[in-house]
Amino acid sequence: MAELNVILTGPPGAGKGTQARLLVERFDIPQISTGDMLRAAVASGSELGRQADAIMKRGDLVPDSVIVALVDDRLAQDDCRTGFILDGFPRTKAQAEALDALLARSGREPLRVVALSVPEEELIRRILSRGEGRADDTKEAVTKRLQVFRSETAPVLEHYKDSLSEVDGLGSVEEIHARVVAELEGS
Ligand code: AMP
Repeated sequence: MAELNVILTGPPGAGKGTQARLLVERFDIPQISTGDMLRAAVASGSELGRQADAIMKRGDLVPDSVIVALVDDRLAQDDCRTGFILDGFPRTKAQAEALDALLARSGREPLRVVALSVPEEELIRRILSRGEGRADDTKEAVTKRLQVFRSETAPVLEHYKDSLSEVDGLGSVEEIHARVVAELEGS
């Protein structure tokens, strides 16, 4: 396989970050987390960080144009040559269309899309108990993030329905990792 280009998607709290980090070790391709990139921008006090901070605290989405530009730059870097794991992007249909266009433009291999599925009560329980100290892990922001997932990100799953593998996101981290790897190494 020349390139392994993966979208790891699913609702907030589904375990995307944890699973993406395990895939980094397994396949030696970078994790590209737009949430981590934005949190780094907030911490650095950059112009982008100042714009994103309030939006993120509310659990809303940062504008598509801003996010697409970030990802476009990142995918052009050398370490993405043999593939990448997108974690938390695309989150809207417009982002998915922009991603498709930029991959087509650079003649890259098609995407593999893995969606972690976890029931909503479990998502809320996980997020409120994970204690990572994230500014958007409050009850209000979590409710908003789940709402945004249903209205903005569910259409992304629909957009990729022909290449989508749904993976049960309940169980131990290792069990879920094995399921994800089986999907990626399958046809
Ligand atoms: P995450 O770490 O993926 O849960 O992202 C945390 C927050 O960053 C989200 O609630 C959004 O405010 C923002 N964010 C991350 N990725 C995106 C994206 N692809 N599009 C818009 N906003 C994003």
